[in-house]
Amino acid sequence: MKCPLCHKEMLWNNDFTNNDFGIEEEGITSLYTCINDKCDVDDVSITQKFNKLKPWQEEILEKEESENVSAFLNHFDHHPSAAKDKKK
Ligand SMILES: [Zn+2]
Repeated sequence: MKCPLCHKEMLWNNDFTNNDFGIEEEGITSLYTCINDKCDVDDVSITQKFNKLKPWQEEILEKEESENVSAFLNHFDHHPSAAKDKKK
């Protein structure tokens, strides 16, 4: 984690649950401190929400909607022949 202002490496301070910060979504909020004396940044907090889908998960869900279920499963199996059979 680098300071957004001086780009020096920041010191990890602590992890809190999002509830501690009054955020309803499940997740953690990490607090980082800039230890550069000449920098105006004091603390930076990063909030991560666990219920947010990762891009690759969204991609799979989109595939699931646009293709049928067996084609969706073939995506994981990586069976080229099976995938070809299922294609219309
Ligand atoms: Zn800084």
